[in-house]
Amino acid sequence: MAKNKYGFTTNILHSDRQKPIEHGSLHKPIHTAVAFGYRDARELAAVFQGRQPGYRYGRQGNPTVSALEDKVNQMEDGLSTICFSTGMAAIGAIVQGLLRQGDHVVSSAYLFGNTNSLWQTVAAQGVAVSMVDATDVANVEAALTPSTRIVFVETIANPRTQIADLARIGQLCRERGILYVVDNTMTSPYLFQPKTVEAGLVVNALTKSIGGHGNALGGSLTDTGLYDWSRYPHIAENYKKYPTPQWGMAQIRAKGLRDFGASLGPEAAHHLAVGAETMALRIERECANAMSLARMLEADERIAAVHYPGLPTHPQHGLAGELFKAFGGLFSFELKPEIDCFDYLNRLKLAIPASNLGDTRTLVIPVAHTIFYEMGPERRASMGIAESLIRVSVGIEDTEDLLEDFRQALAA
Ligand SMILES: *Cc1c(COP(=O)(O)O)cnc(C)c1O
Repeated sequence: MAKNKYGFTTNILHSDRQKPIEHGSLHKPIHTAVAFGYRDARELAAVFQGRQPGYRYGRQGNPTVSALEDKVNQMEDGLSTICFSTGMAAIGAIVQGLLRQGDHVVSSAYLFGNTNSLWQTVAAQGVAVSMVDATDVANVEAALTPSTRIVFVETIANPRTQIADLARIGQLCRERGILYVVDNTMTSPYLFQPKTVEAGLVVNALTKSIGGHGNALGGSLTDTGLYDWSRYPHIAENYKKYPTPQWGMAQIRAKGLRDFGASLGPEAAHHLAVGAETMALRIERECANAMSLARMLEADERIAAVHYPGLPTHPQHGLAGELFKAFGGLFSFELKPEIDCFDYLNRLKLAIPASNLGDTRTLVIPVAHTIFYEMGPERRASMGIAESLIRVSVGIEDTEDLLEDFRQALAA
C-alpha cells in the first residue's frame, strides 16, 4: 500500500495486510510463543547476529507486537517504532538506552506526574535535569549546557493544558544537534505528528487515545528519522554495525527490551491494535464534547477557571489552532471556593472518578488530591495546579447527556 495514498483511518485498518498474514486473517493473530523455530542452526545464528530478520525470544520481539509497531509507525510517519509494556516503560527506555551519568536533560516543567517523578529518580542517579517553562523556547535555550543530550516536552500538558513552543524548540534542537523527544500522548498522531516540528523521537502512551478503551496498557517510541545518530555520543560499537539511521533504536531495543524487559505482551498488543482502528472517530467526538463542556463551564459564574486550548481565553489558543487538527479531549477546571470539589464529583452521575484518560468513558479526577498529591503543595503551585482543580478526560457519550450531568452537579 503506497504511503499517504489513503486517509488516516483507512491506513490503520489495512496496515496489517501490508505483510503476509497467516490464513489471510484480517486481524494480526495473537502469537503467544516465547521462542521461535528456524530452518536450521545456521539460520538461528544468523537471526541472533542480526544478519537475517527474525524473532529471537519474546522479550525482544513478537509478531503481534511487530504488527502494532508497524501501525503506530505509520500513524507517526516514522522510520521505525518500538512498543513497550506501558507509556512509562517507553520513556524509561530512553533513560536506559541513551543517558549516562554526567548527562543533562532539559524537560518541560509541565509534565505528566510520573514522568516528573522519573526525572527525579534519574537526577538521583547522576543525570542532571533542568525543568523549564517550555511554553517559551527562550527558557529551553537558557537551560542548555554542553552536556545536554535530550530536550523532552509534551504537546499539551496534563492537567493544565499548557502547550510547549513545539516548533521553535524543534528548530533550536536541530541547530544544536540535540535529540528532541516529544510525548504525543495528549494529542495522539491523529491530531498532531511531532515529526512536523522536527522531533527525533516520539513517545505515545498507547494506553490512552490509541488503545482508547481502558483495557490494555502499552507505550511506544517512534524514530522519525530526523535525528542524526552519528552526533549522539553514547552509541555502543555493537550498534554501529547497522546503517546510521538505525543506531538509536537498535540500542534502545537492546537496552529497553532485552536488558530491561519492558516488553509489551501479545494480548495487550491485540487490544491496542483493535482500539486504534476507531481512534479518529473517538477523538473527533471527544474533542467536540470537550469543546461543548468547556464552553458551558466557562460561562458559569460558579466556575473559577477553565483550562482548555479550544477556548479563546487559553494563552496558547492560537498556537494550538495552528499546530493541531483539533483541541483535544482533555480539559481541567477550578470551582469557586464555596463548592467542595469532592461533593461536586460525587454528584456527577455519568462522569466517573478515575485516573485514566483517553478512555471512551468520561473520567474525572481531583488532581491535587490524587495524581499530583505526592509532589506536595509547593511544586503543585509552581505548576499552576490549584487545590480544587478537576481534570476531565472527555469520553464519547452523547453531548447533551454530558452537558446535563456537569450542569446538574453544579445546580445541587
Ligand atoms: C499516561 C501517560 C504516560 C504514561 O503512560 P502509561 O501507559 O500509563 O505508563 C506518559 N505520558 C503521558 C502524557 C501520559 O498521559
